[in-house]
This record gives sequence, structure tokens and C-alpha cells, in this order.
Amino acid sequence: MSQRVPGFETLAIHAGAQPDPATGARITPIYQTTSYVFNDTDHAASLFGLQAFGNIYTRIMNPTQAVLEERLAALEGGTAALAVASGHAAQLIVLHTLMSSGDNFVSARQLYGGSINQFGHSFKNFGWEVRWADAKDPDSFAGQIDDRTKAIFVESFANPAGFVTDIAALAKVAHDAGLPLIVDNTMATPYLLRPIEHGADIVVHSLTKFLGGHGNSMGGVIVDGGTFDWSASDKYPMLSRPREEYGGIVLHETFGNFGFAIACRVLGLRDLGPAIAPMNAFLILNGIETLPLRMQRHCDNALVVARHLTGHDKVDWVEYSGLPDHPNHALLQRYSPNGAGAVFTFGLKGGYEAGVRFVEGLEIVSHLANIGDTRTLVIHPASTTHRQLTDEQREAAGAGNNVVRLSIGIENAPDIIADIDQALAKA
Ligand SMILES: *Cc1c(COP(=O)(O)O)cnc(C)c1O
Repeated sequence: MSQRVPGFETLAIHAGAQPDPATGARITPIYQTTSYVFNDTDHAASLFGLQAFGNIYTRIMNPTQAVLEERLAALEGGTAALAVASGHAAQLIVLHTLMSSGDNFVSARQLYGGSINQFGHSFKNFGWEVRWADAKDPDSFAGQIDDRTKAIFVESFANPAGFVTDIAALAKVAHDAGLPLIVDNTMATPYLLRPIEHGADIVVHSLTKFLGGHGNSMGGVIVDGGTFDWSASDKYPMLSRPREEYGGIVLHETFGNFGFAIACRVLGLRDLGPAIAPMNAFLILNGIETLPLRMQRHCDNALVVARHLTGHDKVDWVEYSGLPDHPNHALLQRYSPNGAGAVFTFGLKGGYEAGVRFVEGLEIVSHLANIGDTRTLVIHPASTTHRQLTDEQREAAGAGNNVVRLSIGIENAPDIIADIDQALAKA
């Protein structure tokens, strides 16, 4: 190709891929294989010692997975990436690379519910403490930092209402304290927002959602921004101290601005083990080819539906930052001028029973616990994900009895609205 810098749509189709060297196959094949023959014992030794890059065993690396990783690094503007089995596996491996028992990290409390569980319960068993702060108030993070703090974690658009985080302000808080900023960019995708451009050091995704985009595969990714100096302090020994099992090399020194991605692969993924299936990497790669088209349609449809609900007599309120009078709209225009994503909440007049009747009355829209599918999806948190909580606890979690969450799909918008209207009539 010429000197032109490829646009996002071109990268979504071509980055990392070339016709298969063995067969000429145009799209990346599914390398459904576990292990790879060494040329000789010297070759094997250099692979195991990290002196040469190459495939050894699919828990650590696989050719289909490698294309997915290069594509995501290109789309996010990072130096390298590591694809893993799920979004939760990505979060686990990132924090495993940064934290030891007794350390803490500061996270926005506006998070995907599964992440609240992972951080607050299971991570506690590793001796990792999460300290909660308010994504709407960057200064609330600074007050939680001490000398055992290792990172700050936020979502770009926070679940469930799509609150837009001021990433540049949080990057400043993190960097002033010598910490990396980790951004979960699942809800926005790099089509709408690229956190590294605003100061984030590490980006994670659940590929299960909009990037795969068709509700068919679990996956996750870690993107290394290449921006953070892991050797500036003694806080990150996995990166800044010699690794005996790799002949005493120091990962940050040897691999420079992609040392973090390497550490996640050769320590975290090697030892914790959540490798992505080659089939899933293939399906997600195919999904990413149409990400720009799908994501724009998701946003356009969501705005039409949110506007429609705003005027509806069965609807109490609509919380979507794409609406011009939303308090978050100015931040949205700064960070994501192409749209506010597909996920938002609204409140029904009539409370719990109305919520149950609404979700049961829908015909095209699917009642399930996911987001980011081509299909429009709905959940009534009070009767499902937040069922065990008291009324007061649900209110505090933003999942009050009348709250409904939508993930708007890419169907014909008037069809989505007609389905919602007939279900509202029953609610
Ligand atoms: C779904 C989701 C996750 C977890 O990803 P899995 O692929 O389900 O493990 C993390 N963050 C956000 C914002 C999500 O929506």
C-alpha cells in the first residue's frame, strides 16, 4: 500500500490479516489446533526463552487469535494486544499482572454488575482490595489512593445507563499518582471512542458484546497503550524485575512499549489459562469487519427509540446521553461525537408489575441478560439480575422497580418502536 494512513473502516477489515501463507485462503482460517512443530531443539529453546516469537501451544498463542490481537491493537491505537476467553478473563489477567496480595486498586462504582461481583468478591480471595469511587467525580479517586494502590479502573460508557466518563481527567489523577489508567471500552467500542487517545494506558473489552456483535461467541481482549513507564517505580515487579523462568530477562526492558501485553501473555495467560477458542477468535474477527456499519446503526436506532420513549405517556423518564438535554451530553460530544451507543435505561410509570408485563409483552425484542447483539435486547433488572436485593438496595444500584434497560439492535427502527409500543400498551 501507499503512504496513506488507513481509515478505521479499512483497519476493521484488513488490520493484522493477509491471505493465508499456506493455502492462499483470503479470510483468516480457523487454526483449530493446539500445538506446533519445532524446527529443531535450538528453535524450541529460543521460543521457550522468549528470544524468538512463534507458536508453541494454543493456551499462550494461536494464529487465528494473533490476527484478532493485531486488529484490536490497530483499532484502539495500542502497541499490542492479548485476546482471552472473556471480558472477565481480560480484567483478571490485567490485575494479576499489576497486583500482589495486600495491594488495592480504585474503581468507579458505575460498572457492569458482573465486574462489581468480580472485583468485590472473588478478587478479595486473592488479597486484592477494590476501593470504590464515583465516576462523576474524578477527585473522589485521588482520595482513595495510598502506597499500595496499583491502578485506576473505569468504563468509558458506564453500565447500565451509558454515563460518559471524563477519561482525560481520570488519566491525570492516575498519572499524578504514578498509576496506570485502565478503561473498559466494551460499551463504546473503538468506533466511537479510543481511550488511549485521551490518556488511558490499558484498554480492556468484552468481545462478547458489540465487537463480536452477533451474540455467538465469548471473548475478551487487553490492549497495551504502550504509554506507561513500568520501571519508574518499584510497584510493578512482574515488569521491572528479572524473570528467572525466562533466563533472567526483565520484561519491560526487553519488550519496551509492548512489555505489558507480553507480561499478560507469558505470565498471566500462561499460568491462569483462560485462552480464547480459535473458533471464537474467527467469529469475532468476522464481526469486527462490520463494526463501523453496525455501531453507527446501533447509535442511530437508539437515539430514535430514546426520543420516542421520551414523549410516551407510559414512560416516566429516559436516561440516554445522546438526548441533547441529558446532563452528560457535553461530555458525550467531547468524547464520542458519532453517538452515545446502544444501551440505555428508562423508567416505567407503574413500578415492578408494569416492568414484568412490559418485558413479557415484547415480541421482536428479546428478554435476556446481554448487550451488543444485532438484535434488540431488554432486561428488567428488578425481576432478574437485582431480584435478591431489597427495594432500597435496588434504588441505590440504579435498578429501581420501574427501571428497564434496552440494548438497541440494528433492525428496522419503526419495527422496534412498534414492538415497544404494543408491549407498553399491555404494561
Ligand atoms: C459483559 C461485560 C463484561 C464482562 O465480559 P464477559 O465477556 O461477559 O466476561 C465486562 N464489562 C462490560 C462493560 C460488559 O458489558
